[in-house]
Amino acid sequence: EAKRSGRGTVRVFDASMDEGIRVRREIEAGLSQAIARDELSLAYQPIVARGSLDIVGFEALVRWSTPERGAISPAIFIPLAEESTLIHDLGDWILDHALAELQHWPGQYVSVNFSPIQFRRSHFVGHVMESVRRAGVEPQRVQIEITETAIFDDAEHAAQTLCELRKLGFRIALDDFGTGYSSLYNIRKFALDCLKIDRSFIDGMGRERESAAIVHSIIHLGRALGLGVIAEGVETESQAQALRVAGASHLQGYLFSKPVPATEARKLAELKFLTLPGEAQGAPIMA
Ligand code: C2E
Ligand code: MG
Ligand code: MG
Ligand code: MG
Repeated sequence: EAKRSGRGTVRVFDASMDEGIRVRREIEAGLSQAIARDELSLAYQPIVARGSLDIVGFEALVRWSTPERGAISPAIFIPLAEESTLIHDLGDWILDHALAELQHWPGQYVSVNFSPIQFRRSHFVGHVMESVRRAGVEPQRVQIEITETAIFDDAEHAAQTLCELRKLGFRIALDDFGTGYSSLYNIRKFALDCLKIDRSFIDGMGRERESAAIVHSIIHLGRALGLGVIAEGVETESQAQALRVAGASHLQGYLFSKPVPATEARKLAELKFLTLPGEAQGAPIMA
């Protein structure tokens, strides 16, 4: 009797594992055809100057929507793509589309996320440069977002790659800063333009002293090293105000704008700065 229920339990467990694997395979198969089926798009989220709310750039964020499953989060499919060579085709598609969109904005930069796997690929710099040349855009208008994982596994190679990119004029942002395994000692070796404070810290700011302390330390560190500091995931005016006081140079988050479709981003880009609800038109708040 005990044995039977034991086996039954095992069978149920197996079935749910099978289901998980089946879903995963289905997503992987779908993803490999997503480009051809025209199921991918990019959303753009404004990055604004702390006081003027001038839109200095937009972060490109990939979106995938299928007729069968609806929208699938990049937090799900990017890691799957990273487990195969798919990430390279996907990454190329993302970069090419982000660069093409740039031509419709008066002067802002586009901030593109790169997987550590793309970044560590041989000839990464040449590959990116080729896309940029083909698109006819200035590297100065392209910000490369990488995470700590991308640079701390092989710090020497990463330092070299970043240095080459920076010499070519690209901007470099260290994304999700504070969540990886970076050694602060190493940070100074990398040619960076800015740190992006992970939104988990911004989220905790109003509730926990620890998060607020970490946010202040990152801003302090960034400024001391001469880097810009972008706070991501800013959702409330009180967070924005606290970040201004702490000295963050740029803000990004739902308070200002969610990631929007390309057509919407073009309109925002033309306006050049954001106005928050409740503020007089054309009168951006000052820090
Ligand atoms: P990330 O690069 O750190 O992007 C920030 C994420 O926070 C985005 O989620 C964005 O929509 C979300 N976000 C922005 N403001 C707020 C806010 O105020 N509140 C909240 N709750 N969320 C906010 P998304 O688009 O789902 O992307 C998740 C992650 O997937 C990204 O984190 C990035 O790691 C990855 N990803 C997205 N697009 C790409 C891409 O084109 N290439 C690569 N390699 N990775 C990407
Ligand atoms: Mg990012
Ligand atoms: Mg981030
Ligand atoms: Mg992230």
